Amino acid sequence: MIDYIIVGAGLSGIAVAEELLNAGMKIKVYENHSQKSSVVAGGIFNPVILKRFTLAWNADKQLEVALPFYKELEEKLNVSIIKEMPIYRKFNSVEEQNNWFEAIDKPSLSKFLDPKLVSSINSSIPSDHSFGKVNHTGVINTELLINHFSNYIRSFGALESEEFEHDLLHFRTGGVEYKGIHAKAVIFCEGYGMKDNPFFNCLPLHGNKGEYIIVKAEDLKLEVAVKSSVFILPIGNDHYKVGATYDNHDHTSEPKEASKEYLLKKLDAFLKCDYTIVDQMAGIRPATPDRKPMVGNHPDHPTIYCCNGFGSRGVLIAPTIAKELVGHLLNDTDISEEVNISRYYNYFPSLSS
Ligand SMILES: Cc1cc2nc3c(=O)[nH]c(=O)nc-3n(C[C@H](O)[C@H](O)[C@H](O)COP(=O)(O)OP(=O)(O)OC[C@H]3O[C@@H](n4cnc5c(N)ncnc54)[C@H](O)[C@@H]3O)c2cc1C
Repeated sequence: MIDYIIVGAGLSGIAVAEELLNAGMKIKVYENHSQKSSVVAGGIFNPVILKRFTLAWNADKQLEVALPFYKELEEKLNVSIIKEMPIYRKFNSVEEQNNWFEAIDKPSLSKFLDPKLVSSINSSIPSDHSFGKVNHTGVINTELLINHFSNYIRSFGALESEEFEHDLLHFRTGGVEYKGIHAKAVIFCEGYGMKDNPFFNCLPLHGNKGEYIIVKAEDLKLEVAVKSSVFILPIGNDHYKVGATYDNHDHTSEPKEASKEYLLKKLDAFLKCDYTIVDQMAGIRPATPDRKPMVGNHPDHPTIYCCNGFGSRGVLIAPTIAKELVGHLLNDTDISEEVNISRYYNYFPSLSS
């Protein structure tokens, strides 16, 4: 007998697993490597939407939970995954600069938007206008986190590197049975893989494909992240991630030539030094119509849960949502309405009218 089965070891599954382990629960995690969103993510944690200079949904509170969460994981796994790094927003007009100052006047943003504009940050990124610095931002090395966390749970037999087969799940009194294993509940953290989950695939989860290219630019010597029309993010050894794209229509997992061309066009518009393209990667962001997560139990099967819909901000959202879900599982606390899957219950055949 174990306590909980978790399907998926991306940012969602890892956060739920870690919360359950901290509460002394026995878990089993299934991971089939079908989705890559968490592995390829830029890993940026940034509470500010840099298009409009607004605070992302609950992002200030999520940051307060996320940083201690990843710090504890660093210590537990003995690996460095957090890199604090300012983001510089390159302004395209005086109007944008003015908008920045208007945004600073809002109490929720004043902590994050630096009032001192910078005229130049790097000779290879010249600009007619200034740069605004976002404070309290940085990057989580998600690939390293996933690799180390997976090795850790594998070391005590809690990771099965295989597909979870939904048709082998049986509902029993007080819990579930899967391949002879009895558990209190299953938590599905499948990202866009939820489209193949017969229990939850009626939910309005939208795939939003994102792609990055990785370039090598020996002369750039940039140590901060810069947001122009795309991000350029230093990842060490003169390598930089450049991205990302947003595509709601293509749900294939392979990188596309057209995306590379799109990103190169954007990059060439602001980067004035030589570089070579080293790699390209793609993943599908699991998004919802109202851009908030979907968390909670199935309306007809109270022992299966969904923890999904993190969209483009999984790094910040996952720790808060995992705490909320685990609080509900173990202490019967309510899942807040704005993230509760119950707002989409009318999508389930048994409840649609
Ligand atoms: C290019 C790109 C850049 C991004 N950059 C950022 C960023 O800078 N900052 C940020 O916060 N977010 C970023 N994101 C978004 C972030 O990646 C997502 O919000 C987050 O990864 C979603 O995590 P998840 O665990 O819900 O889903 P996923 O990462 O998709 O994880 C789901 C897991 O479940 C597994 N799985 C699915 N079905 C099954 C099954 N039947 N059996 C076993 N295993 C299964 C999959 O293999 C996968 O590992 C980016 C995304 C992309 C694509």
